[in-house]
Amino acid sequence: MMAPEAIGLGFELRILAEAEDVSAVAAVRSAPVGDYRDLDTLRRFAAGVDVLTFDHEHVPNEHLHVLIEEGVNVQPRPAALIHAQDKLVMRAAIERLGLPNPEWSAVSSVIELRAFGEEIGWPVVLKTPTGGYDGKGVRIVDGPAAAEDCADWFGDGPLLAEAKVGFTRELSALVARTPDGRSAAWPVVHTIQVDGVCDEVIAPAPGLATEVARTAQETALRIADAFDVTGVMAAELFETPGHGAGFVVNELAMRPHNTGHWTMNGSVTSQFEQHLRAVLGLPLGDTAALGGYSVMKNYLGGANEDLYSAFPAALAAEPRAKIHAYGKSVRPGRKIGHVNVVGLPGEDPGTVRARAGRAAAIIRDGREPAAGPAATTPAGTDGSPVPATGGTLA
Ligand code: ADP
Repeated sequence: MMAPEAIGLGFELRILAEAEDVSAVAAVRSAPVGDYRDLDTLRRFAAGVDVLTFDHEHVPNEHLHVLIEEGVNVQPRPAALIHAQDKLVMRAAIERLGLPNPEWSAVSSVIELRAFGEEIGWPVVLKTPTGGYDGKGVRIVDGPAAAEDCADWFGDGPLLAEAKVGFTRELSALVARTPDGRSAAWPVVHTIQVDGVCDEVIAPAPGLATEVARTAQETALRIADAFDVTGVMAAELFETPGHGAGFVVNELAMRPHNTGHWTMNGSVTSQFEQHLRAVLGLPLGDTAALGGYSVMKNYLGGANEDLYSAFPAALAAEPRAKIHAYGKSVRPGRKIGHVNVVGLPGEDPGTVRARAGRAAAIIRDGREPAAGPAATTPAGTDGSPVPATGGTLA
């Protein structure tokens, strides 16, 4: 999704692809296949590029330090990226900045996990500090007995234990920052996770108190400054009305992020264009929202294996829907694309959700969603019910 933006800006994007069949290969002219964990592969790939950047966080931090010593312009720098790679490093750094963290501790054994639970109260959340995504590497631990069941997670260094935050909804504050410290923030959005996977995003977050929205943006910008982040950064937040700042930081991503896909159609500048501008040190684009509310709805692999056969029906049903297919093969539960709908000024978010949900459901299932009260995603926090037509949002 960065490739068309690179073409628009007039420069060449090259991609180090994990395999010949990954979606990015179809999007760019030069996409050598190689292992991003192998230093020599990275060296060969980086030779001759102006800037090296990322669309995931798994490139080993130590390799990036070597590349920088050898003269490669890596953006974001590994010293910033580590906060998106290691949740223990991130928690300690957020604490040092005095920004809103849940209660947390590094725990190296079941005994320490139990002690943490006894101290702050059960349940607690146990996380692997590195390598997790889409909720993999996250466990809710209800009490001492459940803590014993986590014994198999210990052994490879300390884990992160956190208080289970009683949040009302999840938010994301997306910002971009250049190497010389200029930055820009998009409106704070409401993100809906289903089974640990980002399912839907409503931009801006409906009904979010102005003061909380402003503080959330300032927090993300402050983090970006303090860690010297470059490119796009998403600060995932838990909203906690009436407590502290009204939110705590969950985790950081330093790259274009699922919670920013709405910007492809709903903002003057998409996160993909902005990421490129930012890592290249170009002037940043305007981050204002277009239209009214925007909704991004992911579609995961489901019953319909031939997605494209359903595109005409989806496009016909919702002419305002923009389909973004990732060119991936269908596997149940795999993120294979998303739909954006930009609402008209004044249109309520529930209506926009219904439009996006309907288009995504048609693609996923190959047919119109069944009528009826089938909503399975949380409603109400945006002050509007989820209409039945948008309801098969599994
Ligand atoms: P990942 O790195 O896999 O995205 P996260 O740290 O974002 O993992 O956790 C996945 C989901 O688990 C979150 O979206 C949230 O719903 C839930 N979660 C994570 N941490 C907490 C917490 N401290 N309190 C309550 N829920 C949590």
